[in-house]
Amino acid sequence: MSENNISIPEIKFTKLFINGEFVDAVSGKTFETIDPRNEEVIAQVAEGDKEDVDLAVQAAREAFDHGKWPRMTGFERGRIMMKFADLIDQNIEELAAIDAMDGGKLFSWLKSNDIPTVANFLRYYAGAADKIHGEMLKMSKQYQAYTLQEPIGVVGLIIPWNVPSTMFFIKVAPALAAGCTIIVKPAEQTPLSALCYAHLAKLAGIPDGVLNVVTGFGRTVGAAISSHMDVDKVSFTGSTEVGRLIMKAAAESNLKPVSLELGGKAPLLIFNDVDVDNAVDLALLANFYNKGEICVAGSRVYVQEEIYDKFVEKAAEKAKTWVPGDPFDPNARVGPQVDKRQFDKILSYIEHGKKEGATLLVGGKRFGDKGYFIEPTIFADAKEDMLIVKEEIFGPVMSLMKFKTVEEAIEKANKTCYGLAAGIVTKDLNLANRVSRSVRAGIIWINCYFAFDMDCPFGGYKMSGFGRDLGLHSLKKYLQVKSVVTPLHDSPWL
Ligand code: NAD
Repeated sequence: MSENNISIPEIKFTKLFINGEFVDAVSGKTFETIDPRNEEVIAQVAEGDKEDVDLAVQAAREAFDHGKWPRMTGFERGRIMMKFADLIDQNIEELAAIDAMDGGKLFSWLKSNDIPTVANFLRYYAGAADKIHGEMLKMSKQYQAYTLQEPIGVVGLIIPWNVPSTMFFIKVAPALAAGCTIIVKPAEQTPLSALCYAHLAKLAGIPDGVLNVVTGFGRTVGAAISSHMDVDKVSFTGSTEVGRLIMKAAAESNLKPVSLELGGKAPLLIFNDVDVDNAVDLALLANFYNKGEICVAGSRVYVQEEIYDKFVEKAAEKAKTWVPGDPFDPNARVGPQVDKRQFDKILSYIEHGKKEGATLLVGGKRFGDKGYFIEPTIFADAKEDMLIVKEEIFGPVMSLMKFKTVEEAIEKANKTCYGLAAGIVTKDLNLANRVSRSVRAGIIWINCYFAFDMDCPFGGYKMSGFGRDLGLHSLKKYLQVKSVVTPLHDSPWL
């Protein structure tokens, strides 16, 4: 099958991947994964449950306790990870098409950005795998000690659907480099690319049991991973609500450490001195990129009063260039929302915005009559107490608000339970420095947005979670420190 001259790949992998083999769920059950472009079923995927998690954990435990992966040199692990990355590069088009179909993401963007980037995540951490060092400690007269950085063990990685490939490798790559063994639970909305990656991992030479993928639902597979006594750590990205459940399950089982990358409601602060055209472009990108299904979306846009009216006018005009359409159509800039639930949730927030009295500037309804498309939507004159400003919408909905002073901007930016990201647009470096140090968020973009880099740690303050993905900070999540102490006798020096 071909659409807009792009080959739609055959779906080859729909079973659980446990101990190096694709297998049916113990129950034999499957669930449908739906194409959000047309609401049709793409494939039936194995529906894992607690018994399947038990089997995957058993395989990962064996691979960790007795297998080669944690015992080989970091250099050797790195070489295999490099091969894994090369295999991704050789299959970019197919992997991009799978995520575009399964999650409604733009094919062109996946092909040019997401998929090549995940191959580079593997290369980045492959390069770090042989540079994991402990330290030598002098201690006191009687003892000397050194520390070892050991892999933390069997890790459960529970990920969301909004950037399925990125989320898979943001966690899998550092965990592999550290020498851990892994159970990944992809989101039920987008299970397909994770299974392709499992296949490529095997081809690359990752030993059986090291990387397992259990597809299925959160309340069954996710809950079984987070409460499992033999899982040594859980790294989660998803909603704050589920983050809480995971922490509770970890506390009530084996007290496994968890790291949580959760929701957000990022402020974008735009000051009087900016080029309004550029600032509007940035705000539209911050809200409509990935159809707004992005935890760092700059959905609370605060514009300083002198330029507010001009900003509103230009935002309405330029929003028209964010055309919804089939993610395989090169002219489309906004794909469909991931599923019916997300589609209904976003439309209900839009209705709240209208009822609460915000001015609907553009959009505000479904686009077309098939698929989960929503028109990019802008509300002007929004207020802090409106639901559209307080809660994470996770859709293409932007709220515009006015501010007078720098102090007011900082106060409003911080008036949220979240603290994942923030944006500042100004030509004044002193102002940017001051504001960036005052806003409580894990990443601050000055005169840019979505500027992620492998080497730049990313994670939340406040109820956006704790722990950092990306950079060498992330590697530490999958390691633990052991001190080894020996007595020191007759040392000629201390
Ligand atoms: P979600 O929390 O509902 O689901 C995320 C994952 O958790 C899925 O795999 C799901 O199956 C699983 N899950 C659900 N219930 C579970 C349970 N009881 N126990 C264990 N696992 C369970 O989130 P979502 O709706 O899929 O994704 C949207 C949310 O994710 C938004 O809040 C968004 O901000 C957040 N997110 C955060 C980041 C970040 O880096 N901070 C990135 C992307 C998405």
